[in-house]
Amino acid sequence: MVGYNMGHLASGTVEVVCGPMFSGKTEELIRRVRRAQIARQKVQIFKPTIDDRYHKSDVVSHSSLSVEAQPVTSSTEILANLYDSTRVVAIDEIQFFDEKIIPVIKKLARRGIRVICAGLDQDYKGSSFGPLPELLCMADRVDKIQAICTVCGAPASKTYRRNAEEMSDQVLVGESDHYEARCRGHWDDHEEDEDLLAFSHSLQSGETSHVSE
Ligand SMILES: [Zn+2]
Repeated sequence: MVGYNMGHLASGTVEVVCGPMFSGKTEELIRRVRRAQIARQKVQIFKPTIDDRYHKSDVVSHSSLSVEAQPVTSSTEILANLYDSTRVVAIDEIQFFDEKIIPVIKKLARRGIRVICAGLDQDYKGSSFGPLPELLCMADRVDKIQAICTVCGAPASKTYRRNAEEMSDQVLVGESDHYEARCRGHWDDHEEDEDLLAFSHSLQSGETSHVSE
């Protein structure tokens, strides 16, 4: 018999907080961690070593709220460093992890652990970032949060990179000197997909189209 009130069989959950840069993803991760700590749950926080913007051992958000985080160089290191008593695992900058992060998260959830992930869903080109597509798909809860467009003040779900032509690396960790949050209209570089453009032209000139102008 399976009841839903059997504490020892509590199932884990996977939560994802995603969005562009400057949307407050890490603040939200820290907020959830703090609440778990108030509830006296053992929390462990991990982040990839690639993110060394501020301190080596802190998840540091842009508003300088911070919690202790353990830097790891690979996904499997999370499992290797896990304590038996840990009930909540928070992982920041999830987009920089290797593809093994998916089976690692599944394993954590299977152990009954609440996994909270935060990271970029898209790079500055608007392409999906690292393990995010599969992660968003398998998650129990997804919160896609927005920043504010630096041009017009509208909600922003895109990360815009200034001087993009000078750089080609997707994994560039930087602050506001390279990136800003933009709404879709102010992010779009108007380089439309050639195939899509050709397709729409063929529709306009084709017999099946009855649209004038
Ligand atoms: Zn805008």
